[in-house]
Amino acid sequence: MVPIKFAILTGEAKMIIYYVIVSDTCNVDQSKDLSGPLLTNLVTNSETKSGQILQGLISYKAIVPDEREIIESVLKTWSSKPDVHVILTTGGTGFADRDITPEATKNVIEKEAPGITLAILMAGLNVTPMAMLSRLACGIRNKTLIINLPGSPKAVKESLEAIALAIPHALALTLGAKSEIIEAHKRIQCTEEYTSVNEKHITFLASSEETAGRLRMSAYPMISMEMAEKLIEEIAVSSDVEVVNVKNAFQRILREDVYSLCHLPPFRASVKDGYAILASDGKGRRKVLGRLGAGFAPGTMQLDPGTCVWVNTGAPVPDEATAVVQVEDTKLIKSHSSGEEQEIEILCHSTEGQDIRPIGIDIEKGALILKAHTKIDAAEMGLLAACGCAQVIVTKLPSVGVLSTGNELQDVGEPLKEGHVYDSNKITLMTMLQNSGYAPVDMGISYDKKDDTIRALRKSLDQVDVLVTTGSVSMGDKDLLKPILKKEFNAFIHFGRLNMKPGKPTTFATCKHNGKKKYILCLPGNPVSATVTAYLFVLPLLNRLNGNFSKPVILKAKVTSSYRLDFRPEFARVTLQWNKFEPYPKAYSTGNQVSSRLLSCKNANALLMLPEKTNELTEIEEGEVVDAVLLNFFQNVEKTFCD
Ligand code: AMP
Ligand code: MG
Repeated sequence: MVPIKFAILTGEAKMIIYYVIVSDTCNVDQSKDLSGPLLTNLVTNSETKSGQILQGLISYKAIVPDEREIIESVLKTWSSKPDVHVILTTGGTGFADRDITPEATKNVIEKEAPGITLAILMAGLNVTPMAMLSRLACGIRNKTLIINLPGSPKAVKESLEAIALAIPHALALTLGAKSEIIEAHKRIQCTEEYTSVNEKHITFLASSEETAGRLRMSAYPMISMEMAEKLIEEIAVSSDVEVVNVKNAFQRILREDVYSLCHLPPFRASVKDGYAILASDGKGRRKVLGRLGAGFAPGTMQLDPGTCVWVNTGAPVPDEATAVVQVEDTKLIKSHSSGEEQEIEILCHSTEGQDIRPIGIDIEKGALILKAHTKIDAAEMGLLAACGCAQVIVTKLPSVGVLSTGNELQDVGEPLKEGHVYDSNKITLMTMLQNSGYAPVDMGISYDKKDDTIRALRKSLDQVDVLVTTGSVSMGDKDLLKPILKKEFNAFIHFGRLNMKPGKPTTFATCKHNGKKKYILCLPGNPVSATVTAYLFVLPLLNRLNGNFSKPVILKAKVTSSYRLDFRPEFARVTLQWNKFEPYPKAYSTGNQVSSRLLSCKNANALLMLPEKTNELTEIEEGEVVDAVLLNFFQNVEKTFCD
């Protein structure tokens, strides 16, 4: 067959094809994936029929579980990149319960391409009538052609061969003259590595950043913030546990349910200041036997008919007492010469049990008082003490270090050198972490030099389980972190670009170092971006590792000024003010929101969650109500509540 050139590509450029394997099984065990390697061969190898036509280049691959949301997210993310020509999916197209690929695809595509579906089905039916059980969807989203293929390797080959011929032409029509995209793409050398998926989550393969010349496009797919949150949640595994004295348990996270070691109250206690009596004696005069104060044993005094004992609030009552009469309902009749009461009169009728708290009425011995994963705050400290729990099992605090990167950075306190700025990120992040109960270690400032960065990372990872860095993750030639993490630390980059503002270059990686799993969150250097992403990603990561499943609070707020929307969802700093006459707090902007202006974080207690700009929605007007996430406030999820 004569190779058909991809109509609009020039020079050595190739058709950029991404593919996603949809399979619960392969997502857990990558070695089970046979369709993926076959697909790579069919698309790229010019000795195959389809490869000859497509001359494609697979630059990203993913293996995802049969989860509609994840499939949609991948398709949306990839098709929003300007340089992805075709996305192929395999699997999830049958009649099994979890097969959901066509539904997810239909939700994403803007124009259907039923002819492609038909061609695949016809080719399949030529081989076996069972092909009629393939449920496929194909279409276009944002100039990217999305094609569902069946899951089995055999069907993948037959299907691709059936449609290959039409794909270049379809793209030529779809893309029109967007060949500058192709030009830009030539600068990125895509690798043929495979995604490594050891954990049950989607992972992406990033192509090499260290190409000759300056990169103009990030090698990392842009993923949504929600997906990034999900990835963090799934990847972070709670740290070990340890036993601590309750006095040192403040802000720690319980890892076992806690049961009361005693009854509360441990004895029958008076609710009032008054007299312990026998209710059956009724109204009338009583001989006062003495007083039973707090701390006395209940049996110290014995009540007989016609007698009473003075008791204080919270003090034990004699074993025989059946009621307490408050002092206001009595009259003094006679006193001893010493001033001690000798006789009183009870003015009201008393009922059995009146104003006596029975043993264990508040908490019974053995009752569940706190559930695992509860955060121990002041009230919980008191509860543990009240129930006699002197020691508790909590998560060992994940160790965390903060490292600033940048040649221009200086510690505050030194005279500022020319071309330098003071390092504000480290102190902001360390304070934020301390405020949430962590004990961050200051890892200093590293220069933007390869050796220096490697040394700083190694030293930090030797010491801590979680490393938070700022700077050095954008698109500059001094942005060394990602390639160094990959090459020198064999780290896996779970995400390297987020569809959010600020915070686009936020990067999350894990690696094994000295035999231990390490988590690395690289935040952008701009002080506002670092602060915002620390709230949104660092605290949730640490909380997860700490066994704390609480979530940020998202509420509705009324904006007091208008906002022009950005193409990325934006997190604008605001001060929320509540007023009991209005249903929503008012959101006051903290001023210019440019990501270098740290003043915009001052007094901010929330981030407005402004949606991304669309054709229909370009602005939020004053007085409109939008979502806002509270800063520094996490709420318990239901499982830590205890009836
Ligand atoms: P980078 O992300 O390294 O490209 O840095 C972006 C901007 O943030 C530059 O203007 C840096 O000077 C600034 N920056 C980076 N790190 C810090 C820091 N630790 N404290 C204050 N500003 C910083
Ligand atoms: Mg820098």
